[in-house]
Amino acid sequence: MTSAVWHPFTQHGLGEPIPQVTSAKGALLHTEDGRTVIDAISSWWVTTHGHCHPRIVAAIADQAEKLDQLIFAGWTHEPAETLATGLRAIMPPELTRVFFSDSGSTSVEVALKMALGYWAGRGEPRHRILVLEHSYHGDTIGTMSVGARGVFNRTYAPLLFDVGTIPFPAAGREQATLDALEAACREGDVAALIVEPLLLGAGGMLMYGPETLARLRDICTAAGVPLIADEVMTGWGRTGTLLACEQAGVVPDILCLSKGLTGGAVPLAVTMASEAIYDAHLSQDRATMLYHSSSYTANPIACAAANANLAIWRDEPVLNRIAALGAAQQDRLDTLGRYAHFDNPRRLGTVAALDLKTEEGGYLDTLAPQLMAFFRERDVLLRPLGNTVYVMPPYCITPEQLAQVWDAIGEAVISF
Ligand SMILES: *Cc1c(COP(=O)(O)O)cnc(C)c1O
Repeated sequence: MTSAVWHPFTQHGLGEPIPQVTSAKGALLHTEDGRTVIDAISSWWVTTHGHCHPRIVAAIADQAEKLDQLIFAGWTHEPAETLATGLRAIMPPELTRVFFSDSGSTSVEVALKMALGYWAGRGEPRHRILVLEHSYHGDTIGTMSVGARGVFNRTYAPLLFDVGTIPFPAAGREQATLDALEAACREGDVAALIVEPLLLGAGGMLMYGPETLARLRDICTAAGVPLIADEVMTGWGRTGTLLACEQAGVVPDILCLSKGLTGGAVPLAVTMASEAIYDAHLSQDRATMLYHSSSYTANPIACAAANANLAIWRDEPVLNRIAALGAAQQDRLDTLGRYAHFDNPRRLGTVAALDLKTEEGGYLDTLAPQLMAFFRERDVLLRPLGNTVYVMPPYCITPEQLAQVWDAIGEAVISF
């Protein structure tokens, strides 16, 4: 019987193979038909310390026996309290409040609602959100609205709300971005600016400098506009530091974290907020509370996994691993990036990317899936974005495994 599963971002009409994975360890996936595949994109950017990390697995098993799930409106539990305290200890001290949800998209939805609630609480309602060109913040209607418009959301476009778009700060054109933000803020109706700090993931692994991020922060501060940092992908060491914002000395008013929050083992997200954002919701009037919840808010098992992730960050040399992985990625980029077939070799922390030069025309649409199939045949899990090939492995990937990934990319260059 054929599978009843409807997969995400999958055109089932094409009948492409869908490998079945039975187990995983570290950077390796083991398939039902006996193959061992290197997970070079951390199972879509979530796995940080490696699959089935023993401490995270143990924490999940342990918590599942004690308390599996609890209503979180008006009730609380130890794993959530420990996690909130743990996050406060390692995140910027200005971010005093922790709101739980269960995916990157919901953490962004909550961030947007917090920004609107902030203005409502101040008695000067504002609803206009500013976004960066090429950004991605999720796939719900709200997060698609604040993300780039394209083939991914064309069908839903009439339902997406209007936002103000600030040009991407491409190298040498940063001033245009800053000017656009200043001009937009002068309109006086801006509720928030939302950015992916330093690295736009789904937009094509586009990078911009910390100086620009710091200037964006300055402009927001001067205009009294809250800055939302979507660190769903960039957080947890991806860009070389715990948060990407750190490299710019920037503290956002609202911070979104998910993906690596549990080390990538189970779904969980938090939206952290400054005291000013929280305060604006405080009153004796129930009408001004933050109206958001999902059934599994702060699920205890997920919180326990996140607490194990924080313990790994405390006890293990995670930043050293990240630095070593970054250096190894840079070596490979320096070698391959020299080939005439590639453009824009670039790296930030553990993320390395380059663009495959392509012939003009509709070629681009089919290139990514063809490349993906090519890599799959070589037991490497990569998922290019258009003509952008990127490597974003778990921090525990071995030098041999990483070499196998880059060898496959080198081979692809000759074949395409
Ligand atoms: C992945 C991602 C999201 C969405 O997270 P989900 O858990 O897939 O909902 C939001 N923002 C950024 C920057 C992301 O990379």
